[in-house]
Amino acid sequence: MARRAARPAPALAAVGDTALTALAGCGPKVAEKLAARGLACLQDLWLQLPRQYEDRTRLTPIRALQPGVAAQVEGRVEAVERGFRYRPLLRVAVCDDSQGTLVLRFFHFRSAQVNQFQPGVRIRCYGTPRPGQNGLEIVHPSYRILDDAEGDALGDRLDPVYPAIEGIGPAALRRLIGLALDRLPEDGTLELLPPHVLASMQLPPLREALLTVHRPSRDADVAQLLEGRHPAQRRLVLEELLAHHLSLRRQRIAQQAHAAPVLHDDTLAARLRASLPFSLTGAQQRVFGEILADLAQPSPMLRLVQGDVGSGKTVVAALAAMLAVAHGRQAALMAPTELLAEQHLANLRGWLEPLGVQVAWLAGKVTGRARAKVLEAVASGQAQVVLGTHALMQEGVAFRDLALAIVDEQHRFGVHQRLALRDKGGGGEIGAGATVPHQLVMTATPIPRTLAMSAYADLDVSAIDELPPGRTPVQTVALSAERRPELVERIRAACAEGRQAYWVCTLIDDPEENDRPGATMRIEAQAAQTTFETLSAQLPGLRVGLVHGRMKAAEKQATMAAFKAGAIGLLVATTVIEVGVDVPNASLMIIENAERLGLAQLHQLRGRVGRGSAASSCVLLYRSPLSQLARQRLETMRETSDGFLIAERDLELRGPGELLGTRQTGLAGFRLADLARDADLLPQVHSIGERLLAESPTVADAIVARWVGGAVRYAGA
Ligand code: ADP
Ligand code: MG
Repeated sequence: MARRAARPAPALAAVGDTALTALAGCGPKVAEKLAARGLACLQDLWLQLPRQYEDRTRLTPIRALQPGVAAQVEGRVEAVERGFRYRPLLRVAVCDDSQGTLVLRFFHFRSAQVNQFQPGVRIRCYGTPRPGQNGLEIVHPSYRILDDAEGDALGDRLDPVYPAIEGIGPAALRRLIGLALDRLPEDGTLELLPPHVLASMQLPPLREALLTVHRPSRDADVAQLLEGRHPAQRRLVLEELLAHHLSLRRQRIAQQAHAAPVLHDDTLAARLRASLPFSLTGAQQRVFGEILADLAQPSPMLRLVQGDVGSGKTVVAALAAMLAVAHGRQAALMAPTELLAEQHLANLRGWLEPLGVQVAWLAGKVTGRARAKVLEAVASGQAQVVLGTHALMQEGVAFRDLALAIVDEQHRFGVHQRLALRDKGGGGEIGAGATVPHQLVMTATPIPRTLAMSAYADLDVSAIDELPPGRTPVQTVALSAERRPELVERIRAACAEGRQAYWVCTLIDDPEENDRPGATMRIEAQAAQTTFETLSAQLPGLRVGLVHGRMKAAEKQATMAAFKAGAIGLLVATTVIEVGVDVPNASLMIIENAERLGLAQLHQLRGRVGRGSAASSCVLLYRSPLSQLARQRLETMRETSDGFLIAERDLELRGPGELLGTRQTGLAGFRLADLARDADLLPQVHSIGERLLAESPTVADAIVARWVGGAVRYAGA
């Protein structure tokens, strides 16, 4: 495995690489279960960090318990009730000297367990109390029956809670980790970070940090530990973030070792540019310039173009594609939805066919003879620019000579998909030194700069940070759903002036239904259907259209075309229109249940209006009562239309996990780091990382191997 080979320090390799079967009580069976979770050697257990701590160093009087706050209590069993309501149930009432009563509730239990709970027996238990029918109760507490003679010593330090591992009980796991920690070597062989870095940041060395995190002393700052802000945790987070950063940087370096076709002929791009009905914005010109410089290199471009909705990314992509075509090669553009891919098709045909460029189209619904024909054109190279959805990546799609792979709305795709399209380049297996296409990815979901640095360390980032001229900012208001009737008037007025409107139906929560695959789309579709019928009845004389995800593609397409042509005044839609739909004459958008949507999605949706010169507005309809979070989101939407600012807010409000979606970043599963909490470390991560790569690449490799290890699966990508 690569991780063994990459590890340079021999002493560390000796201890940290020791197989877990060396630990007492870890036979082959247990080792196998640990290995299933990627835990193979001592070092893996050192880095198996607690998710939480339980404070059993003190007792809380039952009267002082607070709902939602975990605590340890001790008392006597007062009453036991065994019953059966829908399912077996055991309730144990416990009282203590504070004269409070706590109910312990069990749904799974054995009869031996029931017999333990005799009235009068002393019991100590730990758990999180919640309000129940008769005061506070704890469901499935961890507990211990106390021997009356027992000295009842309390714990002398916080108990670490480790992520559960199937087949190994928490106590056994804790014991194994303890044994592994007993073998932790001295700092000299363990430490990988430069001492001056730790000193300047006032962070402890690795050994001390690990011991503090696994075995916090009684006087450790509990609040800090529970929040993950203890210096020992910060120390580990720093190294973990560094490892991920370095691993992405390594992927990039590996990518750049491939060759790519040199594309420098920009005559066709110049012709396209001259034929456009508008001139490029300064930002578009700058970003296109950056792309031109990349394409002229013999190594593959890896560029992310961030640009707010409506900033004009498509035309920049089309210009880039013209370089491939000018060199007699192919370009592909992949979009996340059919709706968007179709819109690109219409745009690109309009722009490119007059220049004699052949545009082909491939989506799931292109089947049979039509599909065979497209595949043939793609394989022969007759199709110069190929547009499509995920269908582009399917088996059987082979390009003759793909020189540029463009992925639109990158946040909808994963790293793997991006690479899959790249691998359509032809020439079979991608080995070191093989020729691969250039890659351009575009996203309208801007992410804060600090995060971009970390999440996209394998990409160069350009920003189209300017909107085409003549756009007026969208006026946004939040309205309670009771005021819905006013909106009907508003739509009537807008349409009477020749403008058009969207009415977006979003899902109303129904957790049971939502669990089922496809249910979201169905419920959304139903809501849209109902709204469509109501609004059609309320707006006689206005042509109302409907699009949702469950309609036939041809129907959707016809409706979109009619809306684009102005034949439909009001379009009732589900969130399928979120991405990319471009109808400049639409100037009013109503979003139902806006309180349920995230900021990124609201911003995307709102981006469908304000694309023309008319003053546009967006109405966010909500149902009361609003949660604090929802209120803040709607407030943010009213205050700003700056995508970067919204992204920053989004990060604050809900953390980066969702914002980035691990699937798109490859930043899967941090052990300890939390990008929202730890974002302030990123600038340092970046600079330490660059220095290590330049000055001590073997140390850099060792850090990656330690934290990311076998997970570096794109290293050869
Ligand atoms: P997005 O960045 O959201 O993908 P699009 O590429 O769909 O934006 O562009 C939005 C609209 O703006 C399209 O109608 C496009 O033709 C138009 N457009 C793009 N660039 C310019 C420009 N420089 N001047 C005027 N209109 C432009
Ligand atoms: Mg777009």
